[in-house]
This record gives sequence, C-alpha cells and structure tokens, in this order.
Amino acid sequence: MAFSYWESNAWLEDLDLMVVGAGIVGLSAALRAREIHPSWRIVVVDADPLGGGGSSRNAGFSCFGSTTELQQDRQALGDQDALDLVRKRWQGLQHLRSTFGDSTLGHHVCGSVELFPRTGSESLPSAQELADLNRWIEPATGVPNTFTQIHQHSLPHLRSESGDAAIFSRLEGLLDTGKMNRAFKALVHARGIDVLTGIRVEAINVMADSCELQISTLSRGATSVTASRLVVATNALSAGLIPELDVQPAVNHVLLTDRIPEFNFPHAVHIDAGYVYARPIENRMLIGGGRHWGLDEAATCSRLQTLMHELWPATQTAPIAYQWSGQLGIGKDRSPIVKKIASNAVAAVRLGGMGVAIGMEVGQLAVEKLTMD
Ligand SMILES: Cc1cc2nc3c(=O)[nH]c(=O)nc-3n(C[C@H](O)[C@H](O)[C@H](O)COP(=O)(O)OP(=O)(O)OC[C@H]3O[C@@H](n4cnc5c(N)ncnc54)[C@H](O)[C@@H]3O)c2cc1C
Repeated sequence: MAFSYWESNAWLEDLDLMVVGAGIVGLSAALRAREIHPSWRIVVVDADPLGGGGSSRNAGFSCFGSTTELQQDRQALGDQDALDLVRKRWQGLQHLRSTFGDSTLGHHVCGSVELFPRTGSESLPSAQELADLNRWIEPATGVPNTFTQIHQHSLPHLRSESGDAAIFSRLEGLLDTGKMNRAFKALVHARGIDVLTGIRVEAINVMADSCELQISTLSRGATSVTASRLVVATNALSAGLIPELDVQPAVNHVLLTDRIPEFNFPHAVHIDAGYVYARPIENRMLIGGGRHWGLDEAATCSRLQTLMHELWPATQTAPIAYQWSGQLGIGKDRSPIVKKIASNAVAAVRLGGMGVAIGMEVGQLAVEKLTMD
C-alpha cells in the first residue's frame, strides 16, 4: 500500500527540514528551527512507534558528571574541552528547566551521592583532589563547592560500615522521564511540527540542494522523501545511516522494585564512574547500568539486583516490578558529535549517558550549525 496523495501532501512534500529521530535532540532541533524559521515546513520521523530511544527509557538523572566521570573527562579531553563539555551539560539542563518548568518535568534538585563500595572499580578522591575539582568546575556551574565529602551513615536506608565515605553533589537532580517526553511532544505539536512515528530511514543521499531519504513503514512499504535540509539525531543507531561517525550502541539495563513501605531514599546515586546508577521513584528503588562488567543481560541484571540488596537492605524483600533496557550512543570520549555532513545536513549524535542534561543544547547547536555555517 503506497502513501495516499493526502498523506504525501500533508507530511512528506515541500519540506524545509526533516529531522530523523524523535528523542530529546531531534525534538529540540525541530523546536529551535521553528524559533529561527517560523515559516519552515518541519517534520520529525522516528522508526519507533512510541518515538523514543534513550529519551523515553532513561533513568531521569539531571546529571552533569560525578567526580570520577569528570576526572575521566578531564583526562580524555584536557581541562579546557572537558570544562566546555560540562558547561554545555549545565546550560542544556537550565534550558530544559526554563523551557518546561520543574513541575511539568517532575524535576527536583535533590543532590546526588557517589558511592565507593568495596567491590567497586573506583576509589574515593582525596580532599586535595576534591578541592581541585571544585575549583575547576566552578566557571561552568557558577557555584562554589559543588562536591563535598559526607559519611554514608548520614543517609537513610543505606547500609553503612564505619568509615564509609561518599561524595555529595548538591546541584544534581531527578526528573520524571515520562513527564519530560509528554512535555516535549506537547510543545512540538503546539509549534506546528509533525512527528511521524513508525517511519524508518533506511538510507540518506545528500545532494547539493536537497536531501533524499529512503524510508520504509510497516503498512505502506518503502518510498523516498526529499527535504531541503536534514538533521540526523539517531544517537545509538547512527552508524547504520552515517558509518563514518564514531558511534557505537551500548545497552543499559534497568530494574525498578515494587513499592517498599516506609522507604524513601532522598538522592540520586552514582557508582563505578557512572556505570551503575540508582535512584528512588517515590518509595521504589531503581538501579541500572553495569555495562562495564561485560556480562550478558541475565548476569548483569542479577549483579545489579545483588548490589542493590547489599546497599539498601530494605529492597531485599521487594520484587522487581519493572525491568527494561535501552541503548546509549558511545564513542572514544563523552563529547557528543555535532557535525555537518554536507552544506544542508547535520548529524547530532552520540549522547552517551548524560543526554537529559545536554540534549537540548545539542539539538540547538545542530540547527545553528545547519543554518549559520
Ligand atoms: C537505560 C538508559 C538510562 C539512561 N539514563 C540516563 C539518565 O538518567 N540521565 C541522562 O542524562 N541520560 C540517561 N541516558 C541517556 C539518555 O537517555 C540519552 O543520552 C538521550 O536520551 C539521547 O537522546 P537522543 O535524542 O540523542 O537519542 P534517542 O533518545 O536515543 O533518540 C534517537 C531516536 O532515533 C530513532 N532512530 C534511530 N535510527 C533511526 C532510523 N534509521 N530511522 C528513524 N528513526 C531512527 C530511534 O527510534 C530513537 O527514537 C540513559 C539511557 C539509557 C538507554
């Protein structure tokens, strides 16, 4: 069955901009393009019927880096580039909050703790390292003393042996990922941007004055679509469309317990340089990650659950009520790729594990690169 005249005419013809990928980045790019070019015909397409990769499956951390992640960023990128990256995460987060408002996003700044369990891969930074990190990050966040050392026994419900220390990051928060996605979709719709789901882009052919996309749908088969400009925001799955980019998919698994009476841990949690993360959702506990262990899905989930039971004994009797996975886009370091692939096409991909914070900034940069360079 082919697209009807009406379908083609309404959605697939005379497009000024097509965005591939309806995650945070793709939708932010579409919104920014609408701001700069109110008259453009803009369509966002996504292969997933629910229109969500990591953006609708993430853990809801509004994070910009734990101490060990930031030290890794500094080593990989150098102090200045790593600071620019943190600044973009921070600005993206402020942009997200000011666009939608904390209450719409279910966002609250609750702070995060970085734990260093004995079985973990990282060690507690020294007082001097912490002071140096605080000085280094201050120009990005504008706030002194982001990180402080605390005793684990000051945290409710967390198992603590004498001397266990943790790092508290006072600027991080948590949001409701479902609320964030609904807010994005409502705003995009209100701005007259169509989001078409169930459309997979199979190949891209960028020409001097237009971009041709081969698309396929379950119900209407394959056809091609032409747009004057293109933003590719396909994150983890980008190598299928633009093989020369350094982006690999990496699966993350997430477990969420049933409700636990009287349980309420107050902060987001980072372990093993962010490879493991945990958070409360009301009186449930979520734990996820573990890809650095190099185990299969069953073994990763079992190890995540064991770690959760060790750290929060109250979770031991709670069944797992939800379990899911999603894909990160990763590469040689944690900086996203925002790159022109032709004069009328930009790729904005490789969002890694902190896309909630930096996503809006990356979508915005993609459109600015597309229209101004
Ligand atoms: C389990 C998990 C937990 C996470 N937790 C956090 C967290 O707590 N905090 C945080 O900041 N980040 C977290 N992340 C990372 C964060 O979710 C991502 O960095 C961010 O959502 C990426 O946004 P995006 O728009 O670039 O990509 P995505 O949200 O992945 O969107 C890409 C879209 O492109 C579509 N697509 C791909 N290929 C095609 C194609 N060929 N044709 C059409 N459509 C296509 C996909 O269907 C997808 O919807 C987590 C990720 C996962 C998987």
